[in-house]
Amino acid sequence: MTDRPVLIAGGGIGGLALGLTLHQIGVPFRIFEAVRELKPLGVGINLQPNAVRELFDLGIGAEALDAVGLQAREWALVGRNGREIYAEPRGLEAGYRWPQYAVHRGAFHMLLYRELCARAGRECVQLDRRVTGYEATAGGVRALFDDGTQAKGAVLIGADGIHSEIRAQMHPDQPPIHWGGALMWRGTTRARPLRTGASFLGLGTSTQRMVIYPISAPDADGLAEINWIAEVTLDAEDGWQGTSWFGTAEPADFLHYFEDWRFDWLDVPTLIGGADVVYENPMVDRDPVPTWVAGRVALMGDAAHAMYPTGSNGASQAVIDARTLGAAMLRHGVTAAALAEYDAALYGPVSEVVLRNRGAGPFGLLQMVEERCGGAFDEIDAVIPADERAAFMRGYKDAAGFEMEKLNAAPRTIPEGARVAR
Ligand SMILES: Cc1cc2nc3c(=O)[nH]c(=O)nc-3n(C[C@H](O)[C@H](O)[C@H](O)COP(=O)(O)OP(=O)(O)OC[C@H]3O[C@@H](n4cnc5c(N)ncnc54)[C@H](O)[C@@H]3O)c2cc1C
Repeated sequence: MTDRPVLIAGGGIGGLALGLTLHQIGVPFRIFEAVRELKPLGVGINLQPNAVRELFDLGIGAEALDAVGLQAREWALVGRNGREIYAEPRGLEAGYRWPQYAVHRGAFHMLLYRELCARAGRECVQLDRRVTGYEATAGGVRALFDDGTQAKGAVLIGADGIHSEIRAQMHPDQPPIHWGGALMWRGTTRARPLRTGASFLGLGTSTQRMVIYPISAPDADGLAEINWIAEVTLDAEDGWQGTSWFGTAEPADFLHYFEDWRFDWLDVPTLIGGADVVYENPMVDRDPVPTWVAGRVALMGDAAHAMYPTGSNGASQAVIDARTLGAAMLRHGVTAAALAEYDAALYGPVSEVVLRNRGAGPFGLLQMVEERCGGAFDEIDAVIPADERAAFMRGYKDAAGFEMEKLNAAPRTIPEGARVAR
């Protein structure tokens, strides 16, 4: 194996998960992160059991994850009329060998950063280092930075998010970011958790809905940190006219959409009004590109497959990408062949998930309800039989890589103690 490091552009969840994986299998690496300081940014995200399995295999276990989130117990969809459309147990309660977590993105990100620094040394993540492109060298690759400096490595992994500069160089003709017309406002509010106390709830219609789930255990007063996303689909014809991809907003900007969303078990305006900060962002993704790999350069995470959050699997897939890259390096060394194997394994199925999420992902059930009864029903069984609802959800989980029987039976992605031969 070459002693030249793996160069990683981007120290988000994907880049740090790759750093932890490479450290585990004995491959030298350097992460270059554009921001000057990593801060605990964002709100809630989900870690599906397939990603939690990989985190456990990395030695990031339940104790560490319990400190940044909560094990999920249920996934449920409720119509605008307040009646249940679908509910299923999740994580350990569903029979998975690994839990599913709802975590605070920033706290989870900082957990990965702390772990990586403790294991591989602080200098493995270089901050204030923006990668702007790359060049092939004899038997390697060179990363280029905005300050005119360069770094040489064996391979370069673009983990630089949805606005990836590595992807832009690899696919100069890629279309602009795709916006389908949905706007999201996100926040967290201290409130009483719903249903099981650890339920993911989708409520409303295919064009206007609330997603609500706790990301902490309740305190002595029974209140938990509740993550919520208010989502409205507008006319996308003119494209995204806002000024920012991730700005802050005031509840008054969008509360009118949800003013009368009051049930005896939930008061949406109160939930929204209780947030300290609200973030506004358009729901965007990118059209799949023909490949994530060019020679000794590969894309991962959002740089490879930015997707709508409808399936709650963007962060999970970034972790899976990291582990799949590591497994390929165990078989092929730190080579272009390893990157090609990774691309062949994930590019097709994950690109399909991107398009599936664009079609509403698991929220597709809401569309079926509208098409069949206009949203008016007493008993959902009369509209979509239980078998059909279950089959729809199974299809999604299978495509997204967390179908239970398959995952429970799958061998470890990275065998215990495995190291890349030097
Ligand atoms: C600040 C922030 C807040 C977020 N909040 C949420 C949220 O609340 N809910 C949610 O579902 N998802 C959120 N996301 C997205 C979510 O984290 C990702 O979809 C998912 O985790 C995949 O991770 P990733 O590592 O591929 O991308 P990201 O998490 O986006 O990480 C990419 C990293 O690359 C760095 N970077 C970008 N360009 C360069 C460059 N040229 N050179 C070097 N470094 C570069 C960025 O600073 C960032 O740290 C957020 C992302 C960010 C960056």
